[in-house]
Amino acid sequence: MRKKFVAGNWKMNPTTANDVVRLATEVIVGLKDESRVTVAVCPPFPYLGLLDTLLKQHQSSILLGAQNCYVEKDGAFTGEISPAMLLDAGCKYVILGHSERRHKMGESDGFINQKVKAALAAGLEVILCVGETLREREGNQTDAVLDRQVTQGLADVKDIAKLVIAYEPVWAIGTGKNATPQQAQDAHAFIRQRVGKLYSDAVAQALLIQYGGSVKPDNAATLLGQPDVDGALVGGAALKADQFLPIVRAGVH
Ligand code: PEP
Repeated sequence: MRKKFVAGNWKMNPTTANDVVRLATEVIVGLKDESRVTVAVCPPFPYLGLLDTLLKQHQSSILLGAQNCYVEKDGAFTGEISPAMLLDAGCKYVILGHSERRHKMGESDGFINQKVKAALAAGLEVILCVGETLREREGNQTDAVLDRQVTQGLADVKDIAKLVIAYEPVWAIGTGKNATPQQAQDAHAFIRQRVGKLYSDAVAQALLIQYGGSVKPDNAATLLGQPDVDGALVGGAALKADQFLPIVRAGVH
């Protein structure tokens, strides 16, 4: 059975170190004895070191992730951050291909694929986000978009044992509108089937596929109860411990 994996994507929040420590401490203390679900938090870059220290101080099993990285190891790339730097800062994971980066920063499938390869080669585990816009869903393009994002995002990636896919319909992110459990299940099953074609059935069965898009305490259990939904990537609700904790617990079988 695939162990559920819930990750908090804090995006560009909180905005002070004090608030980061407060939120992180509430999450760490609240999940002190929770080992039945894999949990990660992905704060903004400047707070990775602070989080790494806090997690170690509390001997927490919560894992650290970043929200992006660049494709190069080092060099003259002003403003960018390499996978090796993230590892050195204590990260296990990096989120790549988030819809905000695809749609607000114009990242292409090809560029995301380069990042996936660079991150995996450096030893990071990748959370690769895919998902259709409302227009694409309404135009019956969901499967085609997922197919393209998965196939191109994983081009030339030989081994995906260290990769998680997050299905995040763009129309459900930060909107309060979540996919129905059936819509999530259908998309996850489709992604798993595509991965089975690209790799093998065994690889597809082992792959964790998170759902993301307005996951809240009151919808988490039904979403995470779908057979192909292996966890959640949580944005807004990850910024409040009293919302994030019950979402994690919804992942307990
Ligand atoms: C996200 O940003 O990955 C996300 C799913 O956000 P929200 O939970 O706020 O919809």
